[in-house]
This record gives sequence, structure tokens and C-alpha cells, in this order.
Amino acid sequence: MSDEVSHLNDLYEEVILDHCKNPRNFKALPEANRKAEGYNPLCGDKVTVYLKLEDGVVQDISFEGIGCAISTAAASLMTETLKGKNLTEVETLFQGFHDLVTGKGGETSQMGKLMVFHGVSEFPVRVKCATLVWHTLQAALQQTQEPATTE
Ligand code: ZN
Repeated sequence: MSDEVSHLNDLYEEVILDHCKNPRNFKALPEANRKAEGYNPLCGDKVTVYLKLEDGVVQDISFEGIGCAISTAAASLMTETLKGKNLTEVETLFQGFHDLVTGKGGETSQMGKLMVFHGVSEFPVRVKCATLVWHTLQAALQQTQEPATTE
């Protein structure tokens, strides 16, 4: 049991720990046509996002990396959530997730399981752990060659 999630609501903690221990879509994706790497120097989290994008739709998405419970769970839940979504939906979810973990409120009706991260807003140092994989996804979508950072 890790300290970093011990203060979160029990139900949310359960979901986060489940995704941390058994990350979904945790693999390289040979057929990916987009790929980006991200690094959060504050915590040491590293993630690579693989994306198969066709006709503006996320056909498949996966990740690899090493990080804390929050970053791993965030990546796992992001890949699970975004599969089959179009770019407009991806952008809406990115904005919603960012507002959620930074405590800005905003529209949450489409957030689904991503709501488990709402407690992260109480721990500013963990916000970058939760958003790293989303920033990395943005880099993959924009096809930038620079590593994504949370700064
Ligand atoms: Zn972290």
C-alpha cells in the first residue's frame, strides 16, 4: 500500500490501486502511427504513449513506463477511456481531466471512471503525476519530437 494514495477516498483508492497493480493496455503497440515519451522530473515518472490514429479516431492506444501509483493508474485509465474516441472527444476529456485534477470544477458528466482522480486536486505535487500521460498523448497527437514535460 503506497502512501501517495492513502488519503484518497476508499472507493477511488481501490480503483487506482487496481489499475496500478494491473495496468490496462500496458504494452508496446507495433501498429502505432503516433508515439511520444513523457517525463515528470518532480516524481521520476516516465511514460511512452502509443497511438493508432485513423480517420480522426483512436483505433488503439497503449502505454509503457515506470512511475508512481498515480501516474500508472492515470495512464491505464486514460488508455481504457480513449479507445474508440474521436479527436473532439479526446480534447473534451483532456480538458475535463485537467480541470478535475487541478480542482477547477467544470463539466464532469462525461468523465466516467476518470472521476477517481478528483482527490488528486488536494495534492498539488501529484497533479503532474496524473496529467503526465495526457500531456504525452497531446505530444503524440501533435507529432512533436521533443519529450513531453509537465512544466
Ligand atoms: Zn508520480
